[in-house]
Amino acid sequence: MTVTDLVSYEDALAAYDPVMGLEVHVELGTKTKMFCGCSTALGADANAQTCPTCLGLPGSLPVVNATGVESAIKIGLALNCTIADWCRFARKNYFYPDMPKNFQTSQYDEPIAFDGYLDVQLEDGEVFRVHIERAHMEEDTGKSTHVGGATGRIHGARHSLLDYNRAGIPLIEIVTKPIEGAGERAPEVAKAYVAELRELIKALGVSEARMEQGQMRCDVNLSLRPNGTEKFGTRSETKNVNSLRSVERAARFEIQRHAAVLSSGGKIVQETRHFHEEDGSTTPGRIKEEAEDYRYFPEPDLVPVAPSREWVEELRATLPELPRVRRNRLREEWGVSEHDMQSILNAGAVDLIVATVEAGADAAAARKWWMGELARRANEDGVELAALPITPVQVARVAELVAKGDLNDKLARQVIEGVLAGEGDPDTVVEKRGLKVVSDEGALGTAVDEAIAANAAIADKIRGGKVAAAGALVGAVMKATRGQADAARVRELILEKLGVEG
Ligand code: ADP
Ligand code: MG
Ligand code: ZN
Repeated sequence: MTVTDLVSYEDALAAYDPVMGLEVHVELGTKTKMFCGCSTALGADANAQTCPTCLGLPGSLPVVNATGVESAIKIGLALNCTIADWCRFARKNYFYPDMPKNFQTSQYDEPIAFDGYLDVQLEDGEVFRVHIERAHMEEDTGKSTHVGGATGRIHGARHSLLDYNRAGIPLIEIVTKPIEGAGERAPEVAKAYVAELRELIKALGVSEARMEQGQMRCDVNLSLRPNGTEKFGTRSETKNVNSLRSVERAARFEIQRHAAVLSSGGKIVQETRHFHEEDGSTTPGRIKEEAEDYRYFPEPDLVPVAPSREWVEELRATLPELPRVRRNRLREEWGVSEHDMQSILNAGAVDLIVATVEAGADAAAARKWWMGELARRANEDGVELAALPITPVQVARVAELVAKGDLNDKLARQVIEGVLAGEGDPDTVVEKRGLKVVSDEGALGTAVDEAIAANAAIADKIRGGKVAAAGALVGAVMKATRGQADAARVRELILEKLGVEG
């Protein structure tokens, strides 16, 4: 089906009610893999980080990574889940070359965490509760590269290369209960849920959850039922959607596609689908396996996981403030609108502003520099704000120098430029570049006198009451002092000397 065959979004919603299910995989940031001691660091040569266990060689035995379990419990608790007293791993059997063991060690009917919820905030501030079915532990697969074809897909390739460095990296899969009642906002809810989950995972410190690096990916399940009916329709499952925007687009596309199929009398087949960034469409993958196809059975080589209640409570006590709560608190403290807060969030500036305020700057100044000059620079250089070679402490110092009147905005921008260019701390840059506001009244007075003498006609106009003309004299003084004078003070002096009221 092409994009043009779709039913319009409005028409789809007029007839059908969407039901969604979101499955999110998060790669944990543990140093070693889930069941062996191999490193998880990125960038190594292919297959350099493998051992008999993660390669599934006969006779090797897995051992559970305690930090992996701890991270899973933290995630479960933050999602308001019940933590199992006792649970086991299970083998999910299937053959695919990127899975050297021929089964994935996962959890099936005994997940470590279940029955929770996450409250997500929509753009207009409304809070929508998404119920969580379970969060379970499993392991990632290796990576295959298909060589020789035009598309990079296996079809048409001459041969394939396999890299098992990723095989065995711990994953947590978080599965929602069917999300009902979102109506036309279903795609927005999907995006807001994944965004909130990502913030939560980062706040817990269990993963950097970078979607663009595949550390977090989402499968979007979607079905439609005729408005006013109860029974769920057949779902499609769009796999491995890897940006927030794509999650929203995939849900939207599937709503329009399902509506087109259903309204023309067709049937939705339960299948996985691929999402395409270029046009936001999805195309069929494989017909969905049923659980019995995987012949799940309890993993005989691993002992059950039985977290003590004391440990669970200890971990609960370490949970950070929820990102949504923190965001609302900071928004009020900083006195910014929902919209501005969203921009700050999108720019990745929240923590930088917090750190700058902690270093002594006032919130408005911290926000102004990070969201203004520095955001512009980051954008120009194509880097994230946090990657700029300037620290919150340095930004706070610039803000302090401005607040004291030692720098004006223009000079402050030059100081920032100097810091970014590696010339040192703000004070060093001020010193080296000689960037100080000329506030010495004597020197300013002389500069003003000279400007008046050189622009006699303008001075006369001002004396005659045309106060607006003072701007030209201010400009002349600023030019003479290479921008280092305090413009407001210069204006005062000019009016004083010409005997007019400002
Ligand atoms: P599978 O492993 O087959 O994908 P899961 O139970 O792990 O099955 O995930 C299915 C996801 O889809 C869950 O989030 C579930 O709530 C959701 N879901 C189940 N049935 C439907 C349906 N008919 N329409 C939309 N979502 C559904
Ligand atoms: Mg699934
Ligand atoms: Zn290994």
